Amino acid sequence: MTEVVPAANQTQATPVRKGPRGEVKIYATWCKGCHICVEFCPTNVLAMHPNGNHPIVVAQEKCTACHFCDTHCPDLAIVVKKLE
Ligand code: SF4
Ligand code: SF4
Repeated sequence: MTEVVPAANQTQATPVRKGPRGEVKIYATWCKGCHICVEFCPTNVLAMHPNGNHPIVVAQEKCTACHFCDTHCPDLAIVVKKLE
């Protein structure tokens, strides 16, 4: 008789995301808190700090190094380094 393994107990390989990755650095003292980077990051890497003054990185692993945030930041307060 075949044993039925509940879906919750099945082991699945963790999907490995391909493509470039980035490391995000935020210079909070330069930031004016305009939200542009948070609103337009396509993978929701960023969120505003609870104090609303500057962004914070909440999902570094999702950064694709698309450079939308650092090319649109009016204050040069965010820098993305493409990881090799
Ligand atoms: S480089 Fe792109 S994916 Fe990474 S934080 Fe900036 S906008 Fe988001
Ligand atoms: S785009 Fe630049 S100035 Fe605006 S919230 Fe992001 S880091 Fe701050």
